[in-house]
Amino acid sequence: MTAWRVEEPEPISALEKGIVLTSYGSRGIVALESGVRLACKYRRSVGRPICGDRVITAMTGDREGMVEEILPRDNVFARADSRQRKQLVASNLDQVLIVIAPQPEPSLDLIERYLVASHSLGVNPALVLNKAELHQASTETQDPQPPLARLESYSVLGYPLATTSCKGPPGIGAMQDLLHNRTSILAGQSGVGKSSLINGVIPDLDLQTGALSRATGKGIHTTTTTTMYSLPDGGDLIDSPGVWEYGLWQLSQPELEQGFIDFLPHLGQCRFNNCVHKTEPDCAVKEAVEAGEIRPWRHHAYLRLLSQSC
Ligand code: GDP
Ligand code: ZN
Repeated sequence: MTAWRVEEPEPISALEKGIVLTSYGSRGIVALESGVRLACKYRRSVGRPICGDRVITAMTGDREGMVEEILPRDNVFARADSRQRKQLVASNLDQVLIVIAPQPEPSLDLIERYLVASHSLGVNPALVLNKAELHQASTETQDPQPPLARLESYSVLGYPLATTSCKGPPGIGAMQDLLHNRTSILAGQSGVGKSSLINGVIPDLDLQTGALSRATGKGIHTTTTTTMYSLPDGGDLIDSPGVWEYGLWQLSQPELEQGFIDFLPHLGQCRFNNCVHKTEPDCAVKEAVEAGEIRPWRHHAYLRLLSQSC
């Protein structure tokens, strides 16, 4: 086989900072601080940035640049691929909005799984209950089943909760409040309404996609590419197809216990320092459950996730 040495272009301008809006293969689009959207290639020595990365660029041609450096990331959001391996999706997020809905109904421990995954990535989770009008309709006839019956408890634990509908009252204002001036990503099962919510909060979605396509000189496949959009009132929303629709990667026991924020004050206080809070004696977590400081159903959810992990 012949090894081809690919010539990389030299910079012809001063360095300029920017944020990667979308990244595909060995190229992407960077929003420069000047407002220009620059199509960039990546240097082999620098590597491939992901959506949300802060980068240093230089022009290498008329309308093309090169990413010269990827600045350190605050956090990296990941999803699982079909083999439950972690795949990097986007960086430097303020929060992940976990979208749930009465239809399709979340499975028993789905919310806990999402919360633990968010914490393990160092990204703050918030909950969005979409299709709220269906939720209200079902409470009139019968009590909603867990986990939707427990949404108030998540608020008490400190997780922001927005109740929305794309089909009528209460609308999507509560989610817009959460998005304001932050960088967010939507995650959740297929069919809960993520695309509808994105279309609702980004009225000029088609325009922004068109601008990105023009910057590359070719069409962008927004159905397969992670893309950052600007929100009209300030903030950014990352649209990434298939985030957490197909489950999550395997979570380890330390990731699990750190992801239950109500356990945190009690961790490190069990008799055994390798306590997994299951059957061990003098377990501070179990004592907190008995004392009413941790809700029993949270401990049960933890135990179920523990039996599926490790
Ligand atoms: P995604 O797969 O999470 O992106 O979900 P979509 O946005 O494609 O929505 C799935 C289906 O739910 C579509 O038929 C939407 O019209 C519908 N849908 C979205 N939001 C709502 C809502 O608030 N209420 C109701 N009843 N249906 C909704
Ligand atoms: Zn313990």
